[in-house]
This record gives sequence, structure tokens and C-alpha cells, in this order.
Amino acid sequence: MEFCGGHTASIFKHGLRQLLPQTIEMLSGPGCPVCVTANTDLDKAIALAHLPDVIITSFGDMIRVPGSYSSLQKAKAEGCDVRVVYSVLDALHIASENPDKSVIFIGIGFETTAPTIAAAILQSEQERIDNFHLLPLHKLCPPIMKAILDLGEVRLNGIICPGHVSAVIGSYPYQFIPDSYNIACVVSGFEPLDILLSIDMLVEQVEREEYKVEIAYRRGVKPEGNQQAMKLMDTVFEVGEADWRGIGIVPLSGLKLKESYQRFNAETNFDISLEPIREAKGCLCGSILRGVSTPLDCKLFRHSCTPEHPIGPCMVSSEGSCATYYHYGDFYAG
Ligand code: SF4
Repeated sequence: MEFCGGHTASIFKHGLRQLLPQTIEMLSGPGCPVCVTANTDLDKAIALAHLPDVIITSFGDMIRVPGSYSSLQKAKAEGCDVRVVYSVLDALHIASENPDKSVIFIGIGFETTAPTIAAAILQSEQERIDNFHLLPLHKLCPPIMKAILDLGEVRLNGIICPGHVSAVIGSYPYQFIPDSYNIACVVSGFEPLDILLSIDMLVEQVEREEYKVEIAYRRGVKPEGNQQAMKLMDTVFEVGEADWRGIGIVPLSGLKLKESYQRFNAETNFDISLEPIREAKGCLCGSILRGVSTPLDCKLFRHSCTPEHPIGPCMVSSEGSCATYYHYGDFYAG
């Protein structure tokens, strides 16, 4: 299983699946931050957008993801102030330019982006930008890997561990996978040769029955990770439960603002009421994220669900399996 949606996209884009022998089957994992965001959390973001004097800032893909009843894009069309930013620092800039508005950043992502969000919170504190807030939806990779393995729905021999996440956390946090599950692990980069090398290293481990965590992305990842980035995360966040699409609440799999930073928390500082959660009928995103289904199992794929009219998040995000199959997957449709 390649955990990361960026790996899935690269594998499909470069036709790597066709190069592999039939004895190797690749499965896509849950590593797309937009896709794993649960409808509950999307609905919160959309409800916040409808509050007066609020500016919502978010990474681009998130805007188009449908929640239970609407999306941030629809909220924008209805007149809400929703802005796409390329970095959380852009959101901070918007906050400093609009002191009479509350600026809320939708904080999705894994360990890769969490340090930059933490840095923005600290900068906001330092510069006394009091109208900057965060909807904290960050998630952690190793705990969800454990949750998927414990579900026992997929039988894996090897895992291609995420490159960008590992640049921050290093390779040590995956050690429980070979130790407790006898599954090979290799941290991979995103170029086609990185991925082929990683698959080769995984096969080698499986053939020798010597399971361990290896790094095939030495130019980006050290075993101990990036200590400075992790220190930033630890300053602002603490580990808590998170709601994952298709999996539900997983303890200790998300990042929450620490008590001393609660004044930045958009979830608790604004009054919103939510309608009952609804899931899109027929959408298999949840089971695709667990590696149990592929987009080809979904009856809506390429029919009512396309990148122009996405029904689920996996068709929206550039790292979503359905979008990847849609753009590059003709070879596998038959
Ligand atoms: Fe959901 Fe569309 Fe993917 Fe089907 S094709 S699983 S409806 S995103």
C-alpha cells in the first residue's frame, strides 16, 4: 500500500503499475488530507463561512469538497467571504489587513503542514494579530496506519511510507509496523525512480522475511526527522482524537490546540449550529481510503461523478484516488 495520495498520483501518471509483475498488487491508502476530512468537519467550516464578519481562508482543493449539504465554493457563491490561500502566512496577512473581521484558516493536513500552522499561530501571537483563528483538523499518519492494520480489512506485505510527512517526523515512528505486524516499510520520494526503488526494497524485505523500516528518500528524510519542525508542533499542538472519513473517530490521531492557544480555536470561539450529517449516496470514498475498494468499484465513477461535478472528496483533490484514476486510469478500466 502506498499511504500517500501523492505516490498514487505519481504511480499512475508514470504508468508504474504496468511495469510491475503480476505478483505485486498496489493499493492506495488514506494519505490525502482533503479526502480524509469528515463531513462533520466540512460542515463546521461551511457554517463558519456563513457567520457575519468572517473571512474563511483555505487551501484550494478544500473549497470544492462537498459537505453534507453544501461546499465552501457554494457558500462563496452565496456571498460568503471565502478565499483560497497558498500558505497559512497569506491567511495571517489577510487577518492583519482586515482587523474588523475574524479570519479563520481551515487547518487540514498531516504532519507536513502542521509545523507551518504552528509557526503562524506563534507569529500571530507575537504580532498581536487577535483576529486570526484556526479550525484545527490536522491528522497524524502513524496512528491511522495502525488503525487500518488493526481493522484487518486489507492484507498488506509492505507499505510505502509518505515522503513529505517523514521529512518532518522521520522514519522511527513507523517501527511498530515491522515489529508488531511483520510488514515491510520503505519511506519513498515521489519521482518514479524513487517509487520503483522503494518497491524493490520492499520486495527484498518480504523475500528475506526481514521486516524493517528503510529510507529510499535519503535526500529528504533523516531517521530522526526535523527536530525544529517537531518542536514547533509540540509548542502549539497536543495529540487528540480525530474524525476520519470512512474510519470514524480514531483516538490520538489528530492535533488539537493546547490550552494556552485555545483563544485561536475557531471551533470553540464561534457559535455555529449544524444540521444532521449526511453522506453522499453511493459514494465509496470511505472504503477507498481504507484500501478496501477502488474507484472502479463505484457505480458513480465517470458517470455522475467527475472532476467537474465531484460527488466525493476523492474526485476533488489532486491527490484523491478517484481523480487520479479519472485522469490516468484508462489502462486499468478494463
Ligand atoms: Fe465518491 Fe465519486 Fe469516488 Fe465514487 S467516484 S467514490 S462518488 S468520489
